[in-house]
Amino acid sequence: MPSVSPEPHPFRFCPVDGTPLESPDDEGGTRCDTCGRSWYRNSSPVVGCVIVRDGKALVTVRGIEPHEGKLDAPGGFLLNGEDPVEGLKREIREELGIEIDAGIGDCVQMVPHPYAHDDDFNLALGFRARWVSGDPKPADDVAGVRWVSAEELDALDFAWEHDRELVRKALEDG
Ligand SMILES: [Zn+2]
Repeated sequence: MPSVSPEPHPFRFCPVDGTPLESPDDEGGTRCDTCGRSWYRNSSPVVGCVIVRDGKALVTVRGIEPHEGKLDAPGGFLLNGEDPVEGLKREIREELGIEIDAGIGDCVQMVPHPYAHDDDFNLALGFRARWVSGDPKPADDVAGVRWVSAEELDALDFAWEHDRELVRKALEDG
């Protein structure tokens, strides 16, 4: 697991009411005197999945920064309070126009990793998923799709190494 470093920038103003916040405590948290909320910088949960068909795995070409043009596993950020599996299905529907089946037991990877900045962490939740219906049509923030085999995996240009490992795992599991 990567170390949690460098230190995340603490919040300086309350995101609700704009009150200047005091210096953070040892865990980076600080409390707003106006609304009473405590503020911490946390990893943002993202869900992704690998769909395997006929021995090949679907990967997406990123259409936006960071890492535009590199490969990743389709998925995206969870909404506030959203169930991770429902969020995964929603993201896949939005990005590719297809329906998938997956459950909590299909979560095979949990990896904190820096996203756009070194101190800006995501918590990637990686799933195996089964194709249900629809033909993948890239939309939204996806530039294209590719079906890749285990043999070509090492030579591909992934945005994040954990996605390469998620694809490898999904292909091994069939
Ligand atoms: Zn406040």
